[in-house]
Amino acid sequence: MYDLIVIGAGPGGYVCAIRAAQLGLKVACVEGRETLGGTCLNVGCIPSKALLHGTHMLHEAHENFEKMGLITPEITVDWQKMQGYKAETVAGNTKGIEFLFKKNRIDWLKGWASIPEAGKVKVGDQVHETKNIVIATGSTPAPLKGVTVDNEAGRIVDSTGALALKQIPKSMIVIGAGVIGLELGSVYARLGAEVTVLEYLDVITPGLDGEVQKQFQKMLTKQGLKFTLGASVQSAEVAGDQVKVSYALKQDDSAHEISADVVLVATGRRPHVEGLGLDALGVTLTDRGFIQVDKHWATSVKGIYAIGDAVPGPMLAHKAEDEGMAVAEVIAGKHGHVNYGVIPGVIYTTPEVANVGLTEEQAKEAGRKIKVGKFPFMGNARAKAQFLGEGFVKLIADAETDRILGCHIIGPSAGDLIHEVCVAMEFGASAEDLALTCHAHPTVSEAVREAALACGGGAIHA
Ligand code: NAD
Repeated sequence: MYDLIVIGAGPGGYVCAIRAAQLGLKVACVEGRETLGGTCLNVGCIPSKALLHGTHMLHEAHENFEKMGLITPEITVDWQKMQGYKAETVAGNTKGIEFLFKKNRIDWLKGWASIPEAGKVKVGDQVHETKNIVIATGSTPAPLKGVTVDNEAGRIVDSTGALALKQIPKSMIVIGAGVIGLELGSVYARLGAEVTVLEYLDVITPGLDGEVQKQFQKMLTKQGLKFTLGASVQSAEVAGDQVKVSYALKQDDSAHEISADVVLVATGRRPHVEGLGLDALGVTLTDRGFIQVDKHWATSVKGIYAIGDAVPGPMLAHKAEDEGMAVAEVIAGKHGHVNYGVIPGVIYTTPEVANVGLTEEQAKEAGRKIKVGKFPFMGNARAKAQFLGEGFVKLIADAETDRILGCHIIGPSAGDLIHEVCVAMEFGASAEDLALTCHAHPTVSEAVREAALACGGGAIHA
């Protein structure tokens, strides 16, 4: 009899299993993939970061090497080797989780799980008994009407297929200007593909701060990505060596067609809850198909919990990890807590885009009186020395109390810089607290301090 069986070994599930084992519980984790780590490590965050890094280096070499007096022979891309580097990066991480499971005495039950009844988990022919179950089954790409994905054929692909194309396409159509579309679209644009992004809304990256959206689109356009906004995709069909995409422009309902070698469908993901037997168990789902949970991640059935992409909230690995740790604490009789107001989001393009807390638009909509402190990276010596002077830090604070409400960064190391603001927000800091904190010179982090100064007496270098 286990104390806990976790279903799914992605960032939510494996972190939950490790924390529960650390808290003294007897734990097993069910995973049907050949390797641990879920979508994130196998076909998501990690392989995409390898390709983003490799192609970022290529971009640096093309754009900036000569400016620094680095004269190299022409750099060519060995796609198979880059794929090998990606595979090694993934393997290093998935094996690392296997090691952590052994170290923490967590049993890996290999196979796909279902829950015949509370307290029982079936894997293959075997039924395992457990006091608690955590469902951490993640998400899968949401299907798009009129478009059939075939990752094997490599012509109409989702993110998994796009990470493993057999060759670099000359042209690519990306459906959806969200995180996946722009990260993977940038990879192929840097590799020389002509990339056209079709987005249903009138802005890219819905939900981000409006100024960031505009700046981001401008910078990606400069890098060669083409955008058609307000475009509702109707269908995609393979026609010979091209894929034809039909779409309607929302503004006048006009019909258009466009073709490319490859089409990437990146129009969102949906919770992966099929095959578990949730219906028969009476586990309540939301109207959008997520597992409904209370503030302790308990489902409607006693002893069954759920976390990560399978439950409502941002579909982010680190949100799942936090929930995994917290629910393990709850199951072990301690206090688990996640502060949903301070969950950073990062888009790993060049430049990176990062955000936490309220956008200016959300703060105003909520009727809050705010101060906005903005600082351009052009005023930051370190960023300029690295040809990274585009972009800005935007800090939002309460007009009366000066408490930090949000931060939006587009520019160098945005994904790392955002965390000093996250820590500040966790401690309920004011913009002045950040402004009075000494930041080493010359670092790009000075731009965050300058934005905080801009919320008060004014930035120095702007
Ligand atoms: P997304 O929700 O970020 O973006 C999907 C985009 O597709 C939206 O802009 C939407 O308006 C558009 N769209 C939807 N239907 C369309 C249509 N018919 N025609 C044209 N455009 C259409 O989804 P995603 O990029 O697929 O990512 C899925 C999830 O994975 C997200 O929750 C994302 O946060 C997460 N993710 C995060 C990271 C990261 O944190 N760096 C990386 C990858 C994925």
